[in-house]
Amino acid sequence: MARFWSGKDKKTGSSKKTVKLAKKNRYQLVPSNYQHIGDRDNQEDSFAISDLHDEELVKKHGVLALVADGMGGLSFGEEASRVAAQVFLQESLPEEPGESPPARLHRALLRANAAVYDCAYRGGNEIDLGTTLVATLVCKSEMHWISAGDSRIYHYRKGFLTQLNREHTYKNQLLDKVDNGLLTREEADNHPEGAYLTSFLGLPSLSEIDQSNKPLQLQAGDHILLCSDGLTNTMTDDEITYYFKENEHISAEELVNQALSKRQPYQDNITVVILSCNFTD
Ligand code: CA
Repeated sequence: MARFWSGKDKKTGSSKKTVKLAKKNRYQLVPSNYQHIGDRDNQEDSFAISDLHDEELVKKHGVLALVADGMGGLSFGEEASRVAAQVFLQESLPEEPGESPPARLHRALLRANAAVYDCAYRGGNEIDLGTTLVATLVCKSEMHWISAGDSRIYHYRKGFLTQLNREHTYKNQLLDKVDNGLLTREEADNHPEGAYLTSFLGLPSLSEIDQSNKPLQLQAGDHILLCSDGLTNTMTDDEITYYFKENEHISAEELVNQALSKRQPYQDNITVVILSCNFTD
């Protein structure tokens, strides 16, 4: 299956190809993707979208989109996210007829994790590497998703931006303790290890997986945003919401440029994939 992904490109243009979601409701899916290296030496993010020119494949198996944010010294982070993206893409196709979209996503994530773990233990040496991964699968007009790590998936509809997944950070575990009265909010906010990931690909087994328990029914005007934390550490949810509100035909490139215009010191790699659901002409 032909797909495309990028591990190294400074920037990548958007696909102009669109996909009709269902004949009867006249929706089409318009993908847009862009990434920027920021102020870093390596582009450690990878992304992938189904080859929308393969109409037969899309009709049968849906549209897959993913973003992976690699971690590790030297070029290991880059390798981790690239391997995860490649393996996830291959494994996201049904293994047997009738395999459900959630089962496909779950299996693909486990296999991608195993592949990244193998990279970490190649040649008997333990290498410190790993990657986050967020993925969505749109079948007809239903969207399913899965996540490990702290990349994000958002759903924008009619002026409201909703984060669909919950990041696997130690901070979120601390916030659970706050909810249970075991810690103060201030202690949670100031914890030095708050940003540590509690789950990511590259572990012997995935400690936590966040996955949709029912599909989201897409409507015309909806946008799905997948992004690495290079975007969300630079732009707030309110800023992203404002941007969606102001731009009916939003593009990933414009959103990334918006983040870069804030000139954040030591800007992290930014990767954005947007799936917009429009009415067909
Ligand atoms: Ca990052």
